[in-house]
Amino acid sequence: MSDAARENASARDVLIVGAGHAGAQAAIALRMAKFDGSIALLGDEPELPYERPPLSKEYLSGEKPFERLLIRPASFWRDRDIEVLTGRRVTSVDPEAHEVLCADGFAVAYRRLVWAAGGTPRRLVCSGHDLIGVHTVRTRSDVDRMRVELEEATRIVVIGGGYIGLEAAAVLVKAGKNVTLVEALDRVLARVAGEPLSRFFEAEHRANGVDVRLGACVECIEEHNGRVSGVRLAGGEVLDCEMIVVGVGIMPSVEPLLAVGAAGTNGVAVDQQCHTSLPDIFAIGDCALHSNAYADGAWIRLESVQNANDQAAVVAKTLCGIEDRYQEVPWFWSSQYDLRLQTVGLAGGHDRAVVRGDPAKRSFSIIYLRRGRVVALDCVNAMRDYVQGKRLVKDAAAISPDLLADASIPLKSL
Ligand code: FAD
Repeated sequence: MSDAARENASARDVLIVGAGHAGAQAAIALRMAKFDGSIALLGDEPELPYERPPLSKEYLSGEKPFERLLIRPASFWRDRDIEVLTGRRVTSVDPEAHEVLCADGFAVAYRRLVWAAGGTPRRLVCSGHDLIGVHTVRTRSDVDRMRVELEEATRIVVIGGGYIGLEAAAVLVKAGKNVTLVEALDRVLARVAGEPLSRFFEAEHRANGVDVRLGACVECIEEHNGRVSGVRLAGGEVLDCEMIVVGVGIMPSVEPLLAVGAAGTNGVAVDQQCHTSLPDIFAIGDCALHSNAYADGAWIRLESVQNANDQAAVVAKTLCGIEDRYQEVPWFWSSQYDLRLQTVGLAGGHDRAVVRGDPAKRSFSIIYLRRGRVVALDCVNAMRDYVQGKRLVKDAAAISPDLLADASIPLKSL
């Protein structure tokens, strides 16, 4: 055993790997539930736990300083006796010995382990994907690097028309950059929203000056003197640029668990108390693959702050011996320009989308139905629908589409 390993031979009662949103909330929830055992929160980033949503919004634009992203100040962790170990990456887990090993040889023993390692951005696979000037948006250091280069960049290509790509495009075009957004499918937000919402956001981005290219496939990234100089599309067109932002999803960070036999693919499988198939090992947040009642029981991962918080609360209770199960209605938000999108439920598999209100007035909702029942809402600048619609999703309410479409009838009365 190495010196470092010996130093850490005393097992933490709870070791949390991943000091991001879910990990931090799990530690907080444990102390709130009066858990008095030892807790260590171990993560590979150098910072204390911070919120990621502003990275593609107010932190990228410079409106919010990093200090305001911190989930809690340093004193909070000290005062509650939560040991925060930053800058350490776990590379393997030994479920029998109840020990994790970090890349630098540092070993930590645990009684129970909570895996909250999130995910890493999916990268392009074409040539030039790793050139200087190609960026992803997942961590503070990603955005800090981008902000330094932004001073010199005037033409930016954003690859991927999901939430992160669209949010980054909105910030960059507002900052006066020439922004082209490249999406391989025939509409933005295609994986998460219905067509009316996609068309609405496409139109908003175009109106704000973003050159939106749909059905456009990237062939390769072109370079000049070791730096990005353009994006070549299938068909031969080259979009000249000094910077590229890639937002094409994440890969869950679960290799150390899958390597020792944890069930799961594209995530680590958990039950409703967040147990993995390995003894004394739990998983929460973006990396946790679970059967979700709001997706007809399908096994999915949710990448949202709400899911991170709710699973953290469930795992904390489970660790304290309190009966609980994860069964929250999923919700999410995004902001682009002056638009606040709030979604509740999961629209995947819907067979009807009802538009409520007038998209031209920039305040409206889309209500999704599956087999006649409300399964999700996307609300744009429509807080009341969002709040009241949550109940309809929770109850899987069966309501006539005509009534849902009538914006003069409050959803709560339905
Ligand atoms: P993370 O917050 O990613 O934390 C995981 C941590 O574990 C990271 O620090 C990672 O570096 C670390 N780690 C990984 N592997 C290891 C290892 N082997 N050893 C040690 N540490 C490791 N959600 C919303 O609901 N609304 C939004 O508007 C929104 N906007 C977003 C914008 C951006 C740019 C991003 C990136 C995400 C956004 N999200 C949003 C999603 C939300 O931030 C995530 O769902 C949430 O952070 C998930 O928490 P997590 O703890 O599972 O993962």
